[in-house]
Amino acid sequence: MKAVVFERFGGPVTVARVADPVADDDGVVIEVKASGICRSDWHGWLGHDPDINHLPHVPGHELAGVVVQAGKKVARWKPGDRVTLPFVCACGTCLECLGGNQQVCDRQFQPGFTGWGSFAQYVAVRYADVNLVRLPPEIDFVTAASLGCRFATSFRAVVTQGRVGPGQWVAVHGCGGVGLSAIMIAQALEARIVAVDIEDNVLALAQRLGAAVAINAKASRDVPGLIREVTGRGADVSLDALGSAATCSNSIACLRKRGRHVQVGLLAGDDYLPRVPMHLVIGRELEICGSHGMQAGKYAEMLALIVSGRLDPKALIGKTVPLEQAPAELESMGQFGAVGITVIDRF
Ligand SMILES: [Zn+2]
Ligand SMILES: [Zn+2]
Repeated sequence: MKAVVFERFGGPVTVARVADPVADDDGVVIEVKASGICRSDWHGWLGHDPDINHLPHVPGHELAGVVVQAGKKVARWKPGDRVTLPFVCACGTCLECLGGNQQVCDRQFQPGFTGWGSFAQYVAVRYADVNLVRLPPEIDFVTAASLGCRFATSFRAVVTQGRVGPGQWVAVHGCGGVGLSAIMIAQALEARIVAVDIEDNVLALAQRLGAAVAINAKASRDVPGLIREVTGRGADVSLDALGSAATCSNSIACLRKRGRHVQVGLLAGDDYLPRVPMHLVIGRELEICGSHGMQAGKYAEMLALIVSGRLDPKALIGKTVPLEQAPAELESMGQFGAVGITVIDRF
């Protein structure tokens, strides 16, 4: 099959011929119809992710496609099924899985991280019965590919971890795929949204998706101060949707007393151990929580909102590209300025 491959971290990324994958007994092989290109893939390529402990490597974890091969222990899936899956493929049997928190499974399989991913014609995934999600006929592959990581992660971050409700002020720091998804979801929950980014064209899209206030962090010396000013007492809930020392700190500092910070963006590289204003966490009794994907069992609620039209992840797709263009797109993920999500849809 054709796949996007790199042989060393930060090294050249090429499209090459590699062996077709084979399904594990508990897994399936999926013919990839669409695969989102995510900042996490870029972190993986640069060697920021300890889960990638093998080379060469094929990135890609936001996928949708058709099952072409099912292992002999797979009961729920057969060739021809249209599916997507969370980027955390949970084992289904550890303590976290048994407690319903498959998103923090003790024995995760992550396509594109612990194994080869979906920047390829085919991808093998483990634990199919626990993790595959059937796509409703109304949802096309490109839209579905945007769900597995950024949209589902934002859904869990806003709905479950952030517990956002009508009328609340929600600040979203960083308006890439995660941030824009969070804005769309918070808007559907009738929250009031402050969007923060460093690019005016990205902020314009954030406003079209429902942000009441847009702040260009490049043009503002005191982002938290500005948010506290426009919201009155500070944001009820704030998300670091980028993952940097600055956005993490701003997100915590812009909260009202007893507000809630949700860390969604990965902190990697130089920002791996950011300085956190812990004095504010104490003095304002802030809540700090993380959000790590979303378990397959919770997809039904999100898919229903998409089918009903209350959420429209398609609006977040910036462009679609052929597999051959994926290496250049991956390498440029470190730069800012791209608007919306890029999806590979020709293989
Ligand atoms: Zn597990
Ligand atoms: Zn992702």
